Amino acid sequence: MSDNPQSEVTQLRRQLKAYVSQAHNNEQKLRRFQEQELKFISANGLEELLNTLLYDYRRNFNLDAVTLLLLDPEYEMRHILEGLGLLQKHQDVLFDADLAGIKQLLPDVLRPRLGLCRDDCASLLFPNTHPAPDSSAIFPLVRNRQLIGTLNIGSSQPERFITGSATDFLERLAAVLAVCFENALNHERIKLLGLIDPLTGIHNRRYFDERLVEETSRAQRQGQPLSCLFLDIDHFKQFNDRFGHSIGDHVLREVANTIKSHMRASDVLARFGGEEFAILLIQKDRDEAMEIAERIRAAVAVRPLRIAAATDANITVSIGCAVLTETHEVTVPEDASRTLLNLADQALYQAKEAGRNRVCSTD
Ligand code: GH3
Ligand code: MG
Ligand code: MG
Repeated sequence: MSDNPQSEVTQLRRQLKAYVSQAHNNEQKLRRFQEQELKFISANGLEELLNTLLYDYRRNFNLDAVTLLLLDPEYEMRHILEGLGLLQKHQDVLFDADLAGIKQLLPDVLRPRLGLCRDDCASLLFPNTHPAPDSSAIFPLVRNRQLIGTLNIGSSQPERFITGSATDFLERLAAVLAVCFENALNHERIKLLGLIDPLTGIHNRRYFDERLVEETSRAQRQGQPLSCLFLDIDHFKQFNDRFGHSIGDHVLREVANTIKSHMRASDVLARFGGEEFAILLIQKDRDEAMEIAERIRAAVAVRPLRIAAATDANITVSIGCAVLTETHEVTVPEDASRTLLNLADQALYQAKEAGRNRVCSTD
């Protein structure tokens, strides 16, 4: 027991106040990191992701430099970024053939390094930052246990990044960034292969045709159901004539997004042609597929068009549904997939004939 209980109480109170204030600071810090993570995750494409990282993140976290060093032995990433006009714009994205330099800077290549920014660190990671940062933090970007690059942040305050400081939040942010970056890059790779429809950002017919044969073959092999939906916007010619082509394009994007929101990531969605979409629902039988189709139809029909000039316009879709079952006497996957697509197309025709804005299925 203390000789002076009053002074002990005062001291305890002061300590408690300090803890509460620290907890409050930590909570705020956590929230800012979570917001940044969300921005990375919701970035729509490589350009937005890089903007979020190199401008937003830098400003919001009051950093003097943010750079990304990427492993790019084949110049593939540089070609992709060049094609998007991002190479010249983002001089803080750096490339290396083997990351040998960085491996010398990081004692353990899978752990971050914080501390004073020496000359070798500045010239490798912050070549365009003048004056060079006084302290820096280097976070390895790791995918499949391989180092694919580093996220590097720098400050003009020597004490901002100190060896041994806690880095949990930042490490998590770097891990999220690595996944988002790889996803965005893969999306661009697919685009380059000509498998994405540039208007809607979903896959195109070429991709669908390939996946249809693959999925048919898998479904036959595993004895699993496979459903196909064929969707066509109703009276879209009239709509275009009335509101113009660019509002029509907007509708195509909205319809694509609505369909996507009702599917699982493993399902396949493609813009099949003009105002037609094809959907493959993996391991879904007729009842399940009809239910999903009906949900898509209803969601499009109730969705208000967020276009000022076209608020009184009604957009509806007709959907044909077909299911691949063992009863179809077809052997090769190419024939089975053609049958499936034809059946979905016939069902769509029935839906149109029956008055549109409905779902029909073939037996
Ligand atoms: P139905 O209900 O029978 O399907 O009638 P529809 O008018 O939708 O069908 P039709 O095949 O006669 O017309 C399709 C229209 O889709 C023609 C064209 O104006 C429009 N369309 C096709 N591709 C695009 C596109 O990329 N952008 C826009 N804005 N319109 C497109
Ligand atoms: Mg059509
Ligand atoms: Mg149509």
